[in-house]
Amino acid sequence: MVVSDILDSLNEYQRQAVSAPTGSYLILAGAGSGKTRVLTHRIAWLIQTHGVSPHGILAVTFTNKAAAEMRARIESLMETPLRGMWVGTFHGIAHRLLRAHWQEAKLNQNFQILDGDDQLRLVKRVLASLDLDEKKWPARQALWYINAQKDEGLRPRHIEDFGDLYIKTHVQIYAAYETACERGGMVDFAELLLRAHELWLNNPRLLQHYQQRFSQLLVDEFQDTNTIQYAWIRLLAGDRNNILVVGDDDQSIYGWRGAKIENIQKFTTDFPASEMIRLEQNYRSTGSILKAANGLISSNAGRLGKELWTEAADGERINLYAAFNEIDQARYIVERIKDWVAQGNSYTECAILYRSNAQSRVLEEALLRSQLPYRIYGGQRFFERMEIRNVLAYMRLLGNKDADASFERVVNTPSRGIGDRTIEEIRQLARSQNISMWQAAILLKEQGKVTGRTKNAIQGFITLIEEMDAATADLELAELCEIVIQMSELREYYEKERGERGQARLENLQELVTAARTFDPDSGVDFDDPDEVAPLSLFDDFLNHAALESGEGQGDIHQDCVQLMTLHSAKGLEFPLVFLGGMEEGLFPHKMSLEEPGRLEEERRLCYVGVTRAMQQLYLTYAESRRINGSETYNRVSRFVSEIPSEMVQEVRAQQSISRPAYTSSFSAARPMPSRVNINSMRSFADAELGGTNLKLGQRVVHAKFGEGVVINYEGEGKQARIQVNFNQEGSKWLMMAYANLQPA
Ligand code: ATP
Ligand code: MG
Repeated sequence: MVVSDILDSLNEYQRQAVSAPTGSYLILAGAGSGKTRVLTHRIAWLIQTHGVSPHGILAVTFTNKAAAEMRARIESLMETPLRGMWVGTFHGIAHRLLRAHWQEAKLNQNFQILDGDDQLRLVKRVLASLDLDEKKWPARQALWYINAQKDEGLRPRHIEDFGDLYIKTHVQIYAAYETACERGGMVDFAELLLRAHELWLNNPRLLQHYQQRFSQLLVDEFQDTNTIQYAWIRLLAGDRNNILVVGDDDQSIYGWRGAKIENIQKFTTDFPASEMIRLEQNYRSTGSILKAANGLISSNAGRLGKELWTEAADGERINLYAAFNEIDQARYIVERIKDWVAQGNSYTECAILYRSNAQSRVLEEALLRSQLPYRIYGGQRFFERMEIRNVLAYMRLLGNKDADASFERVVNTPSRGIGDRTIEEIRQLARSQNISMWQAAILLKEQGKVTGRTKNAIQGFITLIEEMDAATADLELAELCEIVIQMSELREYYEKERGERGQARLENLQELVTAARTFDPDSGVDFDDPDEVAPLSLFDDFLNHAALESGEGQGDIHQDCVQLMTLHSAKGLEFPLVFLGGMEEGLFPHKMSLEEPGRLEEERRLCYVGVTRAMQQLYLTYAESRRINGSETYNRVSRFVSEIPSEMVQEVRAQQSISRPAYTSSFSAARPMPSRVNINSMRSFADAELGGTNLKLGQRVVHAKFGEGVVINYEGEGKQARIQVNFNQEGSKWLMMAYANLQPA
């Protein structure tokens, strides 16, 4: 591509930013105004007109998905693959550095990454070893404390407890946790960043090397950098000041995880010569969506203040649907997606966004039932699924017998007669002897203090792992993976789990083998680059990739499928059709945020992020009743809905008449009926009585055997009539109306 082309597709302000002389720049601009576009074009520009080598460029984004997209965009702009350019997340880049300089970083050469779940298990073990009562010192809180300290760059020795028992105990836990990590050669996510920062602080020559190498730094989503990330970037930038950061204060959504919106301010003081560039034209969304977003975010105080406008027409208004429960909501969304695709559009263009992962299950089930292809990003992510974690744990154990987290996970999965008591004994022995659980298991068996049966069971496990080791020694990664699945008997184990879930787990196991087969750790790596580590082994690379990526978007991204993700992981992305589910008080804004104005504002920014993902159509949906942790809750519609200017919203009503029995269990088409929104008067169609009975949809009922539940569907007539009830304990069931003998609760 020739130079002028790079600038052609940009507006005046974007062009100014892309072609500015090297220096430090802050682009502060609203959603969809082209920040990421400027960043990618800037890289192309630097390479083309300033002769900067791709080796000299370091670009940081927030997710692996965004990083991959960024690389692809630049390569397509340049019409050439860009070897040697470092594009990644903070965590990914930190990991790369630590691999290359493990000695300087004082790490084991084959250190392993602990993900959130492993980390929690480890904290629990630490609590037990310190004889701390988990009821008084919850593991999650301790975990949160440790991560928060690391995010601030603090080691236990830096923390002053002022005689405060809370701090004192947590520092003690933190220190013991550190020791356990060192012993097992394990590094958690926060540690990656902290270590990478310390690596440079403690090795000025190394820092200098990287400062010379990376002459150009670019950071996307800058508003969500935390203290240690900012410090790391600051170190690398040194006083050369060739740095471009782009961000939007209205989209800062990681305050709860230590992100510092103040970094925007800090940047302007740390780089006094920096120039601020603003972009105000939105290219993503229709006028209605943009006005809705602007209206919503205007309820936040203390914004840095930006205007966003668009040349686009208003387009359709925002649709608001009141479902009577979460199942109805899911069904409604599925129907709309079907309509969308029937009009000649693709599944990939549709995104369902929600506040918390727990909401995805019902959506997934509705999609599965209707056989719509979908993919979940974030949350219960591919590499975090139980069955995948189990296989990976076996694989980790092959690589490192001392990986306690993996040992604990699979020593009795599938069940082989090693009970909790035995595992606790192994744990204690490991602790008292300061050895790994693997070694402790061998010791326990040899000491002969356990029953013959237990001894055999332990021996069985040790033999299994050793045989697996021998059987996989010379295999390709995918074959190795296959053998592990077979020998561990995990496949048989999941075959026994009936229904769609079991089936999905088996498919996931297969998907893992496919992922191993297609795994390519080298994309964008220049092997002549002296800073590049020779890969440890494909095996280790794969396991680390699995931990780091935790599936942010695994599988075949080319497949046409509906995209499901939390609002947090939707940052930076855009979709023609967007659903924001669960727009209910208590859920979104989350009830934990209601007490603190600061957190409520962060929730509102999160909603702003959600709304601004939509390009053409946006649906807000909420459920009037919802089962959370087995009990029914009734929530009001989210305040965020009423903060959107009402002329931008149209209420959608279901048209189905429930008083006449419906012959199909699928939800018949709902026709949008434009009306002004009046939240208080809004009811769903749940009010109608079910044919000839005194029951209504959404009503709570009691069944003699299944207990309490809510009526969610009805079909058929007379003796054949069936009713679907979602029971608190038993889940949803279809019952024959004639025999069910349901009583109003
Ligand atoms: P977010 O805040 O959500 O990360 P952003 O500011 O990074 O958004 P981009 O993703 O870069 O915005 O751009 C939004 C959309 O607008 C993209 O589809 C992009 O290609 C398009 N776009 C940006 N600038 C222009 C332009 N000058 N001409 C045409 N399309 C543009
Ligand atoms: Mg962006």
